[in-house]
Amino acid sequence: MSLKYIRRAVYILILLLLVYFATASATFLIHIHTANESIPESSLSDYPPPPPNHSLLIFSPHPDDETLGCAGLIQDALHNGSSVHVAFLTNGDGFRLAAEREFHRLNLSTEDMIRFGKIRQNEAINALGKLGVPRSDILFLGYPDQGLTHLWEKHWSSNNPYTSPTTGVNFSPYSNCFHPGTKYCGSCVLADIKDLIRRYKPTDLYVTHPLDEHPDHSAASSFVTLALAQMQMSDPTLTSRCHLHYYLVHRGDWPVPQGLFRTKSLTPPAEMADLDTRWSALPLTPHEENRKIAAIDQYASQTALMKRFLLSFVRTNEIFGDLPVKKIGSYTPSVDTNSGISNIRWLQPPIIEDPVDDNLLCNFLGAGDIRNIYAVRDGMYMYVKINTSEPITSKIQYSIKIRYFGNPALYETGGMYVMRCIPGKPTIPNLTQSLVSKNSLYVRIPLRDIGYSHLIGMCVASSVMGIQEDTTGYHILQM
Ligand SMILES: [Zn+2]
Repeated sequence: MSLKYIRRAVYILILLLLVYFATASATFLIHIHTANESIPESSLSDYPPPPPNHSLLIFSPHPDDETLGCAGLIQDALHNGSSVHVAFLTNGDGFRLAAEREFHRLNLSTEDMIRFGKIRQNEAINALGKLGVPRSDILFLGYPDQGLTHLWEKHWSSNNPYTSPTTGVNFSPYSNCFHPGTKYCGSCVLADIKDLIRRYKPTDLYVTHPLDEHPDHSAASSFVTLALAQMQMSDPTLTSRCHLHYYLVHRGDWPVPQGLFRTKSLTPPAEMADLDTRWSALPLTPHEENRKIAAIDQYASQTALMKRFLLSFVRTNEIFGDLPVKKIGSYTPSVDTNSGISNIRWLQPPIIEDPVDDNLLCNFLGAGDIRNIYAVRDGMYMYVKINTSEPITSKIQYSIKIRYFGNPALYETGGMYVMRCIPGKPTIPNLTQSLVSKNSLYVRIPLRDIGYSHLIGMCVASSVMGIQEDTTGYHILQM
């Protein structure tokens, strides 16, 4: 066979493969899209409007999230005589594309990005004004946009602040922020959130859902959930009446259909509908919808780029999710051998439930598609069982990331524990290999390595050839 024919055969083969993957991808996306449209609103329970004398504290990762998720709730609460405070974790000063459009030029400086952050602050003040929230009840914490996950995972201590590539600094450059000059570090974010909880004594806290796909949104969820969980342990009288609710902004192509459809209702994304979140819906009146549109219109820097997406949140309702408090139960007797892990009877429900078949890689490689996580502990170890959609293979790398905290009196201490497991290969010195059985991967983690912590934030992720396939996001768990 001549070289010409071999080359032609290779081209045809590549073309066929491309056609196969394109068709499979399109089929998958259509499947997700139709599934998202098929969840009936009747499956949701009613979210009761806040009664008088309640105190709502809403955390928004960026200016606009609070309006998208909670504009109707805010109006209902104020109308009924409750108080509403809104705290912005960042000023959205990392959204370079929006800033370039705002200033009509490329190559923006760090000063330009900070100026853009101030523009977004003003948009937030005007938007919330349309909903009835006065300037005095709006707080800007001033942390870096696109940086909250870095603060959570790598820059916890104030001795090791994060430098934002967009603002160029490692502290809040905004003189009007909650603690001017606050360092870009996880412990400072946590301390600010606790300060706000102490100051406003909320009956209801709101933040983005842990499974929200924007890294700032899932990190915001971790910080707020952790702050409340720690305070419920250390200061139960202050926080015993406080309930935490989650709203959702980013998840695949949700909400579908995109665009302004005022007669349609919001329902949770199909892949999240049957997990452990209990979803409920708050109805909006046409008047509340009008004011929600007016508030969204104040975010001119955002509507210029994604008005259709923002208007997708103007529906006949808003949805909120509650998650049960998860506790890693104790297990007796102790597990003496590695192989003993697979004999554990995992009596409790999973501590983490994750959507399955929710992205293209998970669709192609079910071994990396995380389904759920079980965990128990004894006096020395925490035992973890990771379940996947298809049998575990050594092509996938699995990692367990845990943010832990030491002595309860020293919550700002602690650290980050990361275990990477390649099935069948050594992971930690006292565990010769992570144990594999069909769709389950078992590992044990010495409690001393996670500071015998009473609370942990745990995330399990999978990757293939260095590309992340699936992640559960961080879940705050009691030990
Ligand atoms: Zn956002």
